Amino acid sequence: MVEDADRWRRAGRIGAQARDLGAGLLVPGASRRDVAEEVERYIRSQGALPAFPTNLSIDQEAAHFTPDPEDDYRFRTGDLVKLDVGAHLEGAISDTAVTVEVGSDRHAGLRKAARVAQESAGTLLKDAVTTRELSLAIERSIRAQGYRPVENLTGHTIERYLLHAGTSIPNVAGFTSQPLHAGQVVAIEPFATGGAGRIHNGPFGNILRFREPPDGERTPELAEAFQRFRTLPFCLRWVPEKELRATLLRERRRLQTYPVFVEVRQGLVAQSERTFLITPEGSECLTP
Ligand code: MN
Ligand code: MN
Repeated sequence: MVEDADRWRRAGRIGAQARDLGAGLLVPGASRRDVAEEVERYIRSQGALPAFPTNLSIDQEAAHFTPDPEDDYRFRTGDLVKLDVGAHLEGAISDTAVTVEVGSDRHAGLRKAARVAQESAGTLLKDAVTTRELSLAIERSIRAQGYRPVENLTGHTIERYLLHAGTSIPNVAGFTSQPLHAGQVVAIEPFATGGAGRIHNGPFGNILRFREPPDGERTPELAEAFQRFRTLPFCLRWVPEKELRATLLRERRRLQTYPVFVEVRQGLVAQSERTFLITPEGSECLTP
């Protein structure tokens, strides 16, 4: 059992509530930047912090887009939006996502494929389950519904202050297999597509991360920003100072910059994600 399980439960509940609140805001004409900021404001209002910038990836974008400070996009009818949200309480992280079709219902089958696959893997979670069993359940479920799993995106274990803590849960079987154990926190996140079933790196999606503390002598401004964000992902919307924004953009080679993940054949992508605590008896969904 993880220490402080109650903190992880609280972080999970806040993340789930923020996800549901954000999903309700995805209507035609809504400002993409406002939706991201509403979600993050809610997380802060509950005494938590966003574990990463709200992801609002559209259509063939699978993940890793967040609006920049000048974003003026408004959602259009038919946009297939992956809303991916995380909250953390002193490093206890939740990670959860839903796919919403803005103002229409043309891709219900694709959205359902991701959700059903996530549920089928979730029910298998228990002490000593292997990642291969979970991958196989996800892959079979998505293929049985007539879509392809995105083979180079994975679920993952989560540890304190570490969103991707080392063990991956691929969305297809055939990779190496590792057992999971009671007390581990895992994110299960199938991606389903009508495309080729692979993503590649697209343009910069406005998400940054310090890999390590910057040299405070050479770049005191970066060192100041590091004090705020440590090694968790962040974005320029969270930096009110214009000068510091400019410095971060200019010096971004010193940081990790996340590209948007784009389906290689421009296929539409749906994602469903929940965070679970593995227990001796089975599992507990932390982001219901
Ligand atoms: Mn995740
Ligand atoms: Mn996520």
